[in-house]
Amino acid sequence: MENSKQMRSWLDDMGLDHPLVIAGPCSAETEEQVLKIAHDLKNTDVNYYRAGIWKPRTRPGNFEGVGAIGLKWLQRVKEETGLKTATEVANRAHVDLALEHDIDLLWIGARSTVSPFIVQEIADALEGTDKVVLIKNPVNPDLSLWLGAVERLYSADIKKLGVIHRGFSTYEKTKYRNIPEWQLAIELQTRFPDLPLINDPSHITGKRDMIFDVSQTALDLNFDGLMIETHHDPDNAWSDAAQQVTPDRLVQIMEDLRIRKETSEEAEYSSKLNNLRAQIDVIDNQIIETLGKRMKVADAIGGLKKQRNVAVLQTNRWNSILGNMILEGESKGLSEEFVLRMFKAIHQESINHQEKIIKG
Ligand code: PEP
Ligand code: MN
Repeated sequence: MENSKQMRSWLDDMGLDHPLVIAGPCSAETEEQVLKIAHDLKNTDVNYYRAGIWKPRTRPGNFEGVGAIGLKWLQRVKEETGLKTATEVANRAHVDLALEHDIDLLWIGARSTVSPFIVQEIADALEGTDKVVLIKNPVNPDLSLWLGAVERLYSADIKKLGVIHRGFSTYEKTKYRNIPEWQLAIELQTRFPDLPLINDPSHITGKRDMIFDVSQTALDLNFDGLMIETHHDPDNAWSDAAQQVTPDRLVQIMEDLRIRKETSEEAEYSSKLNNLRAQIDVIDNQIIETLGKRMKVADAIGGLKKQRNVAVLQTNRWNSILGNMILEGESKGLSEEFVLRMFKAIHQESINHQEKIIKG
């Protein structure tokens, strides 16, 4: 995207000495709640005050947002605290109402980014606005859907564009609510280095205790900002209770984060090194996760062999795996010696697993 420098400038123009911070409740609940949290966040690093007015819920019957009345509450937030305001829009009517109420930042939610029809409708409604528009990644790990949404908004002449990484849903249960799949965000950043990239650790983790760690990883990966759901009484929030933090905790998180400052050559070197190390950490975690999965399959095979009373070690099968992996490894620049040693270790662990099942 040849004009991506331009996209970056709105964030640079803010002249912040810390990452961009968007904070506020998952949902606007009452006028008192919205104002209370805003006042608590008034003299902090928070740049934009978020509150969901229209809540896309996976299942009907949950709290679906207060609707347009909440926009009036956000206007009061701006009058009383000076905080800029942010909310999610999911169709043309939302956009029109949000613009009428002078909301400063509009984001497109993960459930909307999956639909090119919706994204196009929002892009058309926003055409030419000078508001900040952020696009959350789609629910499913599909980089081209995410990029497609960026392109649609960009074609609508939105100057202040950015993206929010909020993780991806999985069928399998993991420790995350939405797994980060950091490599997708890194890929997007590599393709569009000037498109501001914000991390949403609240929706990635689903748990307030994990928010600090995910935020730190994001900053080490050169993310430009954080969106953190913040509520004065998280446990009693009407939506996403488990993942919201109190305003005090948010301030503490911001204080404890190691924030990169690219001011000297030395700092640039260490920032690059941190970035590469964070990428290595992400990949190492994937390796462990994949090996764990492989051993689960080995356990299942052990179960089958036990039923049939078959020997654990099947030499032919093993030789053919090794031959394939040596070839595969060569094509990725891995030496035969390394592939052999690695697979010997994996194979041994696999046998141990199967034996445990068969003897157990
Ligand atoms: C939100 O930010 O409250 C929200 C609904 O997020 P997402 O679209 O990432 O699920
Ligand atoms: Mn939420």
